[in-house]
Amino acid sequence: MNLHEFQAKELLQRYGVPLPFGRLVRTAEEAGEVTYRDFVLRGIQAVVLKAQIHAGGRGKGHMFHAETGEPLLWNGSPVRGVMLVSEGNIADKAYRLALHMLGHRLVTAQTGPAGRRVRFLLIEEALPIAQELYVGITLDRSHRRPLIMVSAEGGVEIETLAAERPEALVREHIHPFWGFQPFQARRIAFRLGLEVSSLPPLTELLQKLSRAYEELDCQLLELNPLVRTSDGRFLALDAKIVLDDNALFRHPEYSSLRDIEEEDPLEAEASRHQLSYVKLDGNVGCMVNGAGLAMATMDMIQLAGGRPANFLDVGGAANVDRIAQAFRTMLSDPNVRVALVNIFGGIVRCDRVAHGIVQALQQIEPRVPIVIRLEGTNAEEAARILANSGLRFRIARTLEEATARIRDALTELEVSPAV
Ligand code: GDP
Ligand code: MN
Repeated sequence: MNLHEFQAKELLQRYGVPLPFGRLVRTAEEAGEVTYRDFVLRGIQAVVLKAQIHAGGRGKGHMFHAETGEPLLWNGSPVRGVMLVSEGNIADKAYRLALHMLGHRLVTAQTGPAGRRVRFLLIEEALPIAQELYVGITLDRSHRRPLIMVSAEGGVEIETLAAERPEALVREHIHPFWGFQPFQARRIAFRLGLEVSSLPPLTELLQKLSRAYEELDCQLLELNPLVRTSDGRFLALDAKIVLDDNALFRHPEYSSLRDIEEEDPLEAEASRHQLSYVKLDGNVGCMVNGAGLAMATMDMIQLAGGRPANFLDVGGAANVDRIAQAFRTMLSDPNVRVALVNIFGGIVRCDRVAHGIVQALQQIEPRVPIVIRLEGTNAEEAARILANSGLRFRIARTLEEATARIRDALTELEVSPAV
């Protein structure tokens, strides 16, 4: 589960991680008032307006008008997802700039061309930045421990840095029992060539971060950048947290942090029906029971030259409602040109699944060819049910047959099945 930057910072604040002073606003009026009352009156001369969306790359992203689609400009330059406001009447500027951000679309390298609508802005004091660093903590599965990675070159695309100059990223594993140790922080600082005066604040910050990572049940905790200010302080300028979905049951308090509007609507709808659905960008919709079979099915489609439009696991208890919802989810993706149902009747019997499919398709009009492979308990009866249903299916007995049917269907539709 992804969090917004302001939510990640609220959580980190509880662990004493140093942060810039900030306030969240939802309207332009509020942006102006808050900038005046909470910043100007406290002697803060410059603020940063930060669009809150579930995607990074905001600093380099562009704002587009929600209705007209035109790029938004500020003094002749593009409005970006992170804007510095300094000099003159900063409250008035924050108000006018917020009008160019709130309600409009932010497109970044991570959002795709459609972008995301900006519904909140985080206003923060602007800091005098001397250096931008990177810190990330994630689980290293091959070592079975969390891994902390730090670089003295933050602010940039960290994937690019890791690929091009891996030595610039210093790594330490965190012992699950002892936790992150001060000597490890010193080792990181020395390897990065930081000054000795940086050691105490950096050590303290990294220890707080690793505690937060552990106790909050994060899958990823990332500060990009972590900054050193000209007066020698270290602060989390940006924060990204991905919570581990498998640990959500331990944190009922996290349910209020979920932002459904930021999630893929199909994925959110599917998760409400306990379907495990991940949208992909191919054209063959797949409905499968069991994650292993789903992976194998996707591989087969790929091998046959098709591209899966989704991962969709209906789970063991595939009743009519589930199957109907699964069809609805799969078919509401406009990219789907052919649908494949590949279900193994182990716990759930094939005849019941066949009834489910027929009933589901009486509720929703299938607009694409459907290839069905039902194998396992009562498979013959299932075949009879499908044949007598009056609906047109393309039946396959084996996975190879299924992929051949998919290829035929794509060829008939004049969609090139080859990648
Ligand atoms: P991202 O682009 O979505 O990762 O958003 P960030 O929060 O990382 O901000 C992008 C960039 O904006 C940072 O790398 C900084 O260079 C700049 N920035 C953000 N806040 C401040 C600030 O308070 N002062 C200054 N000078 N620059 C800032
Ligand atoms: Mn960032």
